[in-house]
Amino acid sequence: MAEKVDVVVVGGGPAGIACAYTLAKAGVETIVFERGGYPGSKNVMGGILFTNALAKLIPDFREHAPVERPVTKRKFLAISEKDALGVETGFSDFSRPPHNNNFTVLRARFDQWFANQAEDAGAMILSETVVDDFIYDDNKKIIGVKTRRDDGDILCNCVVLADGVNSLLAKKAGLRSEFKPKDFVLGVKMVLGLPAEKICERFSLESKNDGAAYEFFGAVTNNILGSGFIYTNLESVSIGLGVALDGACKLGLRPYELLDKFMDHPYVRPLIKDSEPIEYSAHLLPEGGYHGMPHVFHDNVLVCGDAASFVNTSIYHEGSNLAMESGILAAKAVMQARGRGDFSAKSLMKYAEYLQESIVIKDLKKYERLPGFLHSSPHLFNNYLDLAIELAKDYFIVDELSKGERQKLMFKKAWGRVSVMQLIGDAYKSFRSFIWN
Ligand SMILES: Cc1cc2nc3c(=O)[nH]c(=O)nc-3n(C[C@H](O)[C@H](O)[C@H](O)COP(=O)(O)OP(=O)(O)OC[C@H]3O[C@@H](n4cnc5c(N)ncnc54)[C@H](O)[C@@H]3O)c2cc1C
Repeated sequence: MAEKVDVVVVGGGPAGIACAYTLAKAGVETIVFERGGYPGSKNVMGGILFTNALAKLIPDFREHAPVERPVTKRKFLAISEKDALGVETGFSDFSRPPHNNNFTVLRARFDQWFANQAEDAGAMILSETVVDDFIYDDNKKIIGVKTRRDDGDILCNCVVLADGVNSLLAKKAGLRSEFKPKDFVLGVKMVLGLPAEKICERFSLESKNDGAAYEFFGAVTNNILGSGFIYTNLESVSIGLGVALDGACKLGLRPYELLDKFMDHPYVRPLIKDSEPIEYSAHLLPEGGYHGMPHVFHDNVLVCGDAASFVNTSIYHEGSNLAMESGILAAKAVMQARGRGDFSAKSLMKYAEYLQESIVIKDLKKYERLPGFLHSSPHLFNNYLDLAIELAKDYFIVDELSKGERQKLMFKKAWGRVSVMQLIGDAYKSFRSFIWN
């Protein structure tokens, strides 16, 4: 006879651990199965942990968690093959706690710490354990999971799926349809070691209590949908890029070659000069947004985090906070269901209601038009970004032409590349997708 616990959580990432922590704190018997050697060992993230949800669970996390640097400075840059044009932020409020809830982290360290907090709260975390399938009763209701361990079947009242992007278990549970390449971004990332003083010098940071996050658009992804990033850690920088999977497949792009090219860009090269490669990783990221979401609950099962496509891939790149928030809400719904002694879909529907009222669905809904718009408008990434860089460069040229003559040439160049109708159409669609849906 298999053992029985209250709740099985599949996946020891931010979603699964936030869920397990919340349940364990409330005295609910919870076991987390993580396929990696330890939580975080298989996890990839550009590196900004958005801590708004974490602060609700562990308000003094800053004193204990292995966060690297607060993000006190952000830069957004369009790059062409050789040039760059950017906007920089430096908001003094963000230099003070709680630092706008933005901290760089290395996931292998952070996830392990977070999992330890859940263990201290009473959850059981079993690493090196892959969950392959569900156990069903005679009425085809989920009553447990099958793991790859010997005697690894476990019975439970409810399974929380937090197994990350392309959740095979959500598919097995009939909660999501076939995966389509257009719903994913492929991310590649390197961690490069650099002394703390060099990082401060190169990114104009006053001390190790300041950190920078640079985001790059345009040539970094060969002008297809995606972006690049450099985030500063204490003694390393995380550099990488994410590129739309369908675009990359169509064009035969190899992301690691794009990353090499990005690292050799004249703007980027001096920032990472003489650094030591420490780690290389690649991972998928859900990009379907609101319309890419699966069903998130059914009898005895809930889905949260990347497994439910809860990533705001707009300009914010928020995944870690939505993962934690959804994990907490899943736990809340499970606790209510437990109180009623009813884990049916009807009872677990509370989870969907909580999500609707939370920033998870509110934010995904706000940007619901964005993935479709960006996929159907590849010209946004080449026409406009390259043109903007060229025009900015022209604007600052000092030579024999008068400023008036130069600006006439700039207008001629702009209208030769973009029609007024296209500009109006794109401006309207951008407004609807980014600002007001
Ligand atoms: C390149 C890249 C850059 C990113 N940058 C950022 C960023 O800067 N900021 C941000 O907020 N988000 C970022 N994200 C997104 C962020 O990483 C995710 O949204 C977040 O990790 C989701 O957490 P999760 O717990 O849902 O999934 P995950 O972190 O993926 O955790 C899932 C866990 O489940 C385990 N697992 C999977 N299947 C099984 C199984 N069958 N049995 C047992 N265990 C299993 C995995 O090993 C893993 O530990 C980035 C993603 C990528 C790929």
